[in-house]
Amino acid sequence: MFDENQYQLTSDWHTHTIYSDGTGTIEQNVQQAVARGLKSIAITEHGFNHFLNGVKREKIAEIRTEIERLRSIYPIEILLGIEANLISYDGDIDLTIEECKLFDVINMGLHKAVHYKKKREFFSLFLRNYFPDSAKHSEKLTQAYVRAIEKYPITTVVHLHDLKRVNVEPIARACVERGTFVELNAKRIYFNQQEIDCMRNLGVKFIINSDAHVPERVGEYSKIVQFLKAHDFPLDNIVNLHEKNSQKA
Ligand SMILES: [Zn+2]
Ligand SMILES: [Zn+2]
Repeated sequence: MFDENQYQLTSDWHTHTIYSDGTGTIEQNVQQAVARGLKSIAITEHGFNHFLNGVKREKIAEIRTEIERLRSIYPIEILLGIEANLISYDGDIDLTIEECKLFDVINMGLHKAVHYKKKREFFSLFLRNYFPDSAKHSEKLTQAYVRAIEKYPITTVVHLHDLKRVNVEPIARACVERGTFVELNAKRIYFNQQEIDCMRNLGVKFIINSDAHVPERVGEYSKIVQFLKAHDFPLDNIVNLHEKNSQKA
């Protein structure tokens, strides 16, 4: 069984601050990451089309300046990221290909309170999630994820199955093909053993993230510890879980 005392989390690439709907400053998130012994942290505010909590485009330069200031103070890698929104069945996200170059880390997921590309897609991508499961909708949503992964340089697909269950296999295949991580989200984790086995067989690389909205939760992953204890999981495929006293380089 998974024993958390034998492992160290090395990074947290999904954290929010006051620039979207978090409560802490970038510096507070960084300080907590250092205190937890992480080697790397990403600041990943909600994407531009999130009309309640999205980061403002004009703030990105300010965030970058603050990150650069903190890099010279703290002994940790600090990355500029974003949590982009899936906004159409064609796999569009709320970043242009050009804008993707601004970020070190691009997380991508499905969210509420987002401007979708077309009104029709607002209805079907978002509102439909509140209707009883329809296999057809789930399949269309699955294809939207696959297209987004194919179109954009996405680092990590976040909280899969949140809002609506999808078909994991095609998404996992696209992730392996493109070198995209599948997130183990410390607040929202829904994979079953069959899906884990499928992803193991495909060679998916996983990353553990806190999705912290308060500084104290940066690097906190107790829910994932419970999840790993409850499942047969390919631990070697988690890119940011380091085995203590490991002989591996
Ligand atoms: Zn999210
Ligand atoms: Zn988030």
